[in-house]
Amino acid sequence: MTTMPIRSQHEPIVLLNASYEPLSMNVTLKRAARLLAKGKAIVLEAAKGRFLRDWPWPRVLILVKYVRIAHEVLYRRPTVSRKGVLKRDSYRCAYCADRANTIDHVLPKSRGGGMTWTNLVAACLRCNSRKRNRTPEEAGMPLRLTPFVPTRLALGDSGATVAIPA
Ligand SMILES: [Zn+2]
Repeated sequence: MTTMPIRSQHEPIVLLNASYEPLSMNVTLKRAARLLAKGKAIVLEAAKGRFLRDWPWPRVLILVKYVRIAHEVLYRRPTVSRKGVLKRDSYRCAYCADRANTIDHVLPKSRGGGMTWTNLVAACLRCNSRKRNRTPEEAGMPLRLTPFVPTRLALGDSGATVAIPA
């Protein structure tokens, strides 16, 4: 007989607005319990057979009342950062798809390439040093993806910036 690993304990809890729009992709258990206790949210999706006090163990919570949030808070352009670029590209190298832990300027800095979302990609150390001060074309290293500006929501930092009733 095998025992199922208890994974759900570490799985993030998603919080939806009453309109089903996601507000946060990672609500703490403490906050989830507080929202439930105050009747501000209900469990929309639960983990089977587990309980958080009197409630089914939440995977997805939904607010009972719609909370008005400025659209731009969730969707405005996030500040470009090394961590953000790695996250956007799922920590995969834009050239070879290996695990990436550096970022590369597509158009090299020395040639006027900026520190912008559309000029930065995640790259593994090997590809980064192989490419050097060349464009992908010059290096013969085509990009697997087109760098884009992610939303704050996609980067998962909305929870900290959006006021959700406690
Ligand atoms: Zn690589």
